[in-house]
Order: sequence, then C-alpha cells, then structure tokens
Amino acid sequence: MFNEGCFVCGEELVYSLGEENKTCVYCGNTVMSNVSCPKGHFICDDCHSAPAIELIEKFCNQTELADPLQIAEMLMKSPMIKMHGPEHHYLVPAALIAAYYNKLSDAHQKKHKLAIARLRSETVPGGYCGTHGTCGAAIGGGIFLSIVLGSNPLAGKEWKFSNQLTGISLLNIAEQGGPRCCKRDSFIAIQTAADFILEKLNVALDRSEIICEFSTRNKQCKFSDCTYYSY
Ligand SMILES: [Zn+2]
Ligand SMILES: [Zn+2]
Repeated sequence: MFNEGCFVCGEELVYSLGEENKTCVYCGNTVMSNVSCPKGHFICDDCHSAPAIELIEKFCNQTELADPLQIAEMLMKSPMIKMHGPEHHYLVPAALIAAYYNKLSDAHQKKHKLAIARLRSETVPGGYCGTHGTCGAAIGGGIFLSIVLGSNPLAGKEWKFSNQLTGISLLNIAEQGGPRCCKRDSFIAIQTAADFILEKLNVALDRSEIICEFSTRNKQCKFSDCTYYSY
C-alpha cells in the first residue's frame, strides 16, 4: 500500500502475514490491514488519498489532543499537506479549534466550529502573504478567535480581540523576514494565539516544543536563521 516509511515517525513499514484490525491515526476508523509501522502507526486508504482540507477536518474532529502545535505537526507530516500551500490557512484555525474544544471537553462545538472555519479559510487564497502583505496563517488565528468568540462586524470586545490577535501574529511572522515558510508561519500563528487566549480568556492549551522536521523539504529554508531550525 505505501512505498515510503511511516508518515508519522519515519520508521520502515512492516507487513504481517495476515490482516488484522488497525485504527487509523488520522480518522480513528478501524479497518483490516496487513501494514503498520513498528510503533503501531497506521493510516487508512481514505486518509492516504484524502484532499488536504478533508484530512485536516477529519483528524481535528477525531483527535483528543489539546496541544495545537502537536496537532499541526501531525497533520504537516502527511504527504497530503504540501510543504507550502493554502491548506495551512485551514490547518491553523482547525488545530486551534480542536485543541481549544478538547481542552473544554466540548466535542459538539468542536465539530460545528471546524466546519465554519473550513468555509472561512477557503476564501483566503494561496500566496496572499506575498501579494497582500497579510499572511494566511495569521488570518487563520483571526478566524479561530472570531469563531470561538462569535465575533461579527458589529461586535465590541470580540471584534477587538480577533483583530488584535491577527495583528500580533502578523508582526511576529513579519519579524522573521522572508521567504515565506508555511510551516514556520503556522507555528508562529499558533503559538501567538495560544499566548493570546491564555492572557485574554484564561484558557491554557497544552504546549509542546517545536523542533522543525521539514527543512529538507523546503527549498527556501533559512536554516539557522529560523527560530525552529534544529539540525
Ligand atoms: Zn510510525
Ligand atoms: Zn483514516
């Protein structure tokens, strides 16, 4: 089924003689298969071929992680998510919404809000950072907070907080300088959002340290000039 190693951990895949029930790390469905990695990671055929946006929504609905960086990293490891691309405009708010509602143990709200974020993020085109001076990952943070707070153009504090978050994210992203990197910019947007909601909403999401594993895939990697570079 797969020609490469495990997407999640990179280990060589092992094939058993018989088929057994395996649970997919992305969608959580259990199917019969004879392949998995030595650490037990298994990815079903549907998730192996799902369009990026579909995979992001499925995984975020299924996961119980309350760490948005870990959710983002897990998704970024799938070959369905390109090194750079507009799917990151959904990946950022989806990882944040999933972590936020997992923290609050509210699966119903999570599903509903992931669907709204998908529609909104699909209106942010690729390459926006280069043509409109506004990175889609930062907008992703704004989409997340607007949805969580129920903001609209006539709202007061909700409007203020959502716009503030996009602004702070954008400054943090710009500080690194170009060329753009959709991994770096997504990590920054997510970290900024996690800091912001801790301060303003007193919600503490789980936080893992980011050690970037994508530099070999990025032709424009800034290597040691990037905060997340670790080789
Ligand atoms: Zn694995
Ligand atoms: Zn699956």
